[in-house]
Amino acid sequence: MHGKLILVVEDERAIRDMIAFGLKRAGYAVREAEDSRAARAALADRLPDLMLVDWMLPDMSGLELTRAVKRDRLTRELPIIMLTARAEEGDKVTGLENGADDYVTKPFSPRELLARIAAVLRRAGTVGLNQVLEFEGLKLDQQGQRITINGDVLPLARTEFRMLEFFMSRPERVFSREQLIARLWGSDTSVEDRTIDVCIRRLRMALEPYGLDRYIQTVRSAGYRFSNKAQ
Ligand code: CA
Repeated sequence: MHGKLILVVEDERAIRDMIAFGLKRAGYAVREAEDSRAARAALADRLPDLMLVDWMLPDMSGLELTRAVKRDRLTRELPIIMLTARAEEGDKVTGLENGADDYVTKPFSPRELLARIAAVLRRAGTVGLNQVLEFEGLKLDQQGQRITINGDVLPLARTEFRMLEFFMSRPERVFSREQLIARLWGSDTSVEDRTIDVCIRRLRMALEPYGLDRYIQTVRSAGYRFSNKAQ
């Protein structure tokens, strides 16, 4: 349930099934799309942690989809791995130049694909599966789904937990309310900016007794940032 969400965009059913099967077995949550249109609908619904895109799709090519995703302010941080039957070096360069984070040539082994996914997620600053994140006495156990401060369990509602998890895995980066909504709820929801502010306030209240509320920083007219540095 808490696995990273991977969006698999591939029109060939057999390959898509094979990839989805391998990913699920490795603990990922998987969403499938058979063309660019379905992929864009899935992205609008809930932003995944990573997208695998086949180069050859029936509607818009995987390359064009990648370009479009990287152009969109809400999705441009989404890590993308391109899948292709083409082995030419020129194609690889074209894929990477257009925003793909990595490139896997078919046929590939499930193990190779998993290793590439893990590497790209690590580079993207998103955490791997079931890790323990630590930040100055604050410890987040993803498997146990709890946060402790010097051993004390921090009582957090689900939403606040997810937000803190999001921030702890991306320290020092500023996120607008709009981005937080897209990443935590999906942009296709009725969640408003005010909800983010309420969630932030509750997080700060929970952290305040430990003097750690200062980590949740407001960046004027930009959004919020998680940092242990003075503002
Ligand atoms: Ca294809």
